Amino acid sequence: MARVWTPADEAIQARDSGSRRHPHLSARARELGFETLDDLKLAVLKQRPTWWLGNAYHCPVCDLDFIDSRRAAEHVVLEQHPVLRMDSLRAE
Ligand SMILES: [Zn+2]
Repeated sequence: MARVWTPADEAIQARDSGSRRHPHLSARARELGFETLDDLKLAVLKQRPTWWLGNAYHCPVCDLDFIDSRRAAEHVVLEQHPVLRMDSLRAE
């Protein structure tokens, strides 16, 4: 169940992580083997050709889920976060 995003969440996360360069990643992302933002950016880059075709997305920085590519893409643009397409990760 995705929660509603509020700007206050980001402020809390930024404070708790202590560093903008090494933000805390969601448990879900770490389960998939991602340790750093660079790992995630690389994975998203690989997904790019078919990224739009997904129906399940996850932002590991915010621990937020999206069910359509339009909302996920908005998040990428607004927050500059590497939003993963989740339904294609399993297939790889
Ligand atoms: Zn995010």
